[in-house]
Amino acid sequence: MKALKQRIMQDGKCLEGGILKVDSFINHQMDPALMMEMAKELAERFNGIAIDKVITVEASGIAPAIMVAYLLNVPVVFAKKKVPSTMEGILKSEVFSFTKSRSYTICLSDKFLRKGERCLFIDDFLANGNAAAGILDLTGQAGAEIVGMGFLIEKGFQKGGSMLRSKGIKVESLAIIESLDNCEIRIKD
Ligand code: 5GP
Repeated sequence: MKALKQRIMQDGKCLEGGILKVDSFINHQMDPALMMEMAKELAERFNGIAIDKVITVEASGIAPAIMVAYLLNVPVVFAKKKVPSTMEGILKSEVFSFTKSRSYTICLSDKFLRKGERCLFIDDFLANGNAAAGILDLTGQAGAEIVGMGFLIEKGFQKGGSMLRSKGIKVESLAIIESLDNCEIRIKD
């Protein structure tokens, strides 16, 4: 998506260890107009697929996910990263965080993820696919189904995209980063 690619080139920063910082328009300060444009593009790419619910992981996935869900006119549920003491019917999965280099538990109440529900997973980044694998685990535990996965930014030099596509999942990414070598951002055309 052209507008996103231009914004990454203009405002994205490359950090040591292959991390792309986009905190001025996605991850800390957010640009709602760009976020809505991105949501429209993602909704369009999954047009024609029956979707009951959008699913994401807090915190950075929530903004794009809620906009996509609004456009698709379906609810959105986010996996939490801390297990609340009041949660009933907890489904849990362990996820390794690429940016924080440690594992954490994601959880959801089975009240909000039902058997047979067709879910679209939306997140800000796809790197090694650990968050996506955790969501596949949670939906599997609930007997729900992932019918597609949409990301704002995919890091094409990490293994998540090929891992998910090899499982036959429809994966859509609005910008694919080819490389962050030498702290230079290269985006696929
Ligand atoms: P994965 O689970 O696919 O390995 O990594 C995806 C998650 O890690 C995303 O939800 C995102 O929060 C975070 N992440 C991975 N790589 C980057 C990156 O280069 N920049 C930022 N800002 N977040 C990243």
